[in-house]
Amino acid sequence: MPHYRYLIVGAGMTGDAAVRGIREIDSSGPIGVIGAEPHPPYNRPPLSKGLWKDQSLEQIWRGTGSLDVELHLSRRAIQLDKSGKLVVDDRGTVYTFDKLLLATGGRPRRLPFDREGDRIIYFRTLDDYRRLRELAGAGRRIAVIGGGFIGSEIAAALTMTGGQAVMLFPEDGIGSRLFPAGLAQALNQFYREKGVEVITGELVSEITTTSGNTVLTTKSGRRIDAGGVVAGLGIQPEDQLASAAGLRTDDGIVVDEFLRTSAPEIYAAGDVAKFPNPALGTRIRVEHEDNANTMGQTAGRNMAGPPAPYHHLPFFYSDLFDLGYEAVGDLDSRLTTIEDWKQPHREGVVYYLRDGRVRGVLLWNVWGQVDQARALIAQPGPFSRQDLIGRLPA
Ligand code: NAP
Repeated sequence: MPHYRYLIVGAGMTGDAAVRGIREIDSSGPIGVIGAEPHPPYNRPPLSKGLWKDQSLEQIWRGTGSLDVELHLSRRAIQLDKSGKLVVDDRGTVYTFDKLLLATGGRPRRLPFDREGDRIIYFRTLDDYRRLRELAGAGRRIAVIGGGFIGSEIAAALTMTGGQAVMLFPEDGIGSRLFPAGLAQALNQFYREKGVEVITGELVSEITTTSGNTVLTTKSGRRIDAGGVVAGLGIQPEDQLASAAGLRTDDGIVVDEFLRTSAPEIYAAGDVAKFPNPALGTRIRVEHEDNANTMGQTAGRNMAGPPAPYHHLPFFYSDLFDLGYEAVGDLDSRLTTIEDWKQPHREGVVYYLRDGRVRGVLLWNVWGQVDQARALIAQPGPFSRQDLIGRLPA
């Protein structure tokens, strides 16, 4: 029965960052990491960005194995006993721990009618990337379901590598949940000009496959032929291990500002953790790289040394062909938005407000302003349109 001073469930970016955080303080305490994928931790953003440009597969690895850590891969933790301080994996191995980090991330949402599960690539992992690359490399036209982060980045990646992509999603525009309507509409147009077929306002109701050809039928009766299907329908936090063990969960594992769960010596971080953020004045869950890295590192340091609060407001970014952005805070298109364009829908800043307070900032092809945006979100306001126009220079 392996015993670890630090046991980490989840071998993703958060898990790796936590190992690094621990090692900044404790150079020799035994660390064990359990991961469901067969691979050691790797950077996930390149799967939908850099690997389709100039980045090579060798560059994605995080090098966790060199940090004096035991990796238990292709294993899923299926049981946690919080008072016995033990975890059991799907091969029956029992691990005991002094301190535990749950960095279990999320699982992709699936189409409700898809029971077979192998015709659609619910894009999340390195193996998903390899499958898609193989299909696209064979010259197949790929249907991309979803207009969020994965859908928009993958449709651009496929097209930039000479492939054909047809995007379909229920909203009116690409990124509609994030962007004001005018920007989302402009993105539809921009993608079409780049060669992507963009079908808006459509839900897929059926998928049939015959001898390598796939037909997607939408709710309105439209039929779309494709040689492969990839989907990005959002993720659900992988918090069942925690909830079955009696830890407090609420759309994720609830943690305090020191990233401690409701059980002593058990921490959570990354996509799965719901943490209090002082600038926004609420609990949030963030599914982006900066949060995985920064929160993972803080959790590791807190497990090994004196606790420090996690008050970081993570930023995120995306590449959409030759457009790109950085953003911070709550980008919810239902909030009041103030748009400050230097060049309409090409370069500018969008402010998201609730009750006069800035809750989020989108920096569209505007770089180096994330810290200023964070400072603005931390201010009580109230802010008017005049206060904000020209505030963060494009
Ligand atoms: P997402 O950004 O939440 O987008 C989900 C999309 O799927 C939305 O367009 C959504 O439409 C649509 N959808 C939901 N149910 C559907 C259905 N039954 N049929 C068709 N469309 C449906 O999630 P994602 O793109 O899958 O990304 C997954 C995770 O990876 C997220 O956590 C994301 O933050 C992360 N990620 C981040 C980055 C980045 O930071 N650049 C890049 C890639 C991935 P509705 O809005 O109408 O529900």
